Amino acid sequence: MVRVLIIFSFLLVGLNSMAFTLNTNFAAAFPGEEVKVNLATHDCTNLPYTNDEILSMASEGVNKFWNKVPTSKLKIRRGEHVSVAGDFESGALCTSNTNGCVANPALSGQSQILISCNSNTTNFSSNGVLAVTANVNTSGSDIVGSVILLNNRSGSGLATLSRESFISVLAHEIGHAVGLGHSPVTDSLMYYANIANRVSLGEDDMDGITYLYPREQPTSCGSVAYIQDDYKGGKPIASLILLIGLITFTLKSRKKALLS
Ligand SMILES: [Zn+2]
Repeated sequence: MVRVLIIFSFLLVGLNSMAFTLNTNFAAAFPGEEVKVNLATHDCTNLPYTNDEILSMASEGVNKFWNKVPTSKLKIRRGEHVSVAGDFESGALCTSNTNGCVANPALSGQSQILISCNSNTTNFSSNGVLAVTANVNTSGSDIVGSVILLNNRSGSGLATLSRESFISVLAHEIGHAVGLGHSPVTDSLMYYANIANRVSLGEDDMDGITYLYPREQPTSCGSVAYIQDDYKGGKPIASLILLIGLITFTLKSRKKALLS
């Protein structure tokens, strides 16, 4: 019976740990512990938020989701509003997508993470495609820069989302930007479809981000001081013994005094 239980729990662990996928076939990840999210300065005319609100929501999203994983060293920070070429507003993200994204050279010089509103119909074949992301600039297995394009077409599905869902979409795309692919598990932020009212990462998301950005564990053994009860109460007990001794001595002395 014990053996069956052990095998069963092993199977569950195995299934969970294998569910996340990566955005590249070479496990690309940012090499440092901090990555900034910047936003292109051109207006997102078909979205119901200002650029500053979008950057704030991206920051809110990373703090709500990715920056909360204790086993991951990655910290994603709010960046700046940056001026970029017009290709980021109107160009395709990839020149080919047959075997993964071949980044449009006009967008591939980026560093860190750039979010840009974009209305290119190759990127957004329908308004149901909310956003697209690619690790456009890599060096070996390091990600140098990633680009997130938000659907800024007229009638964009992004414009219909609640603020909370918009934040979840931004956080999902940032997940791709740091190297994660989709998860088949529905309670994962990296599930391919947007799910309303998401409040936290799923286990699969945490496994994935920890795989790419493992936090180094201390090499020495931790220690916790143990205070023994007799030591902890040493002073009061010693005082009590002294007091009892003193009373006994006094009583004996008085008794002796009375008898004599
Ligand atoms: Zn996705």
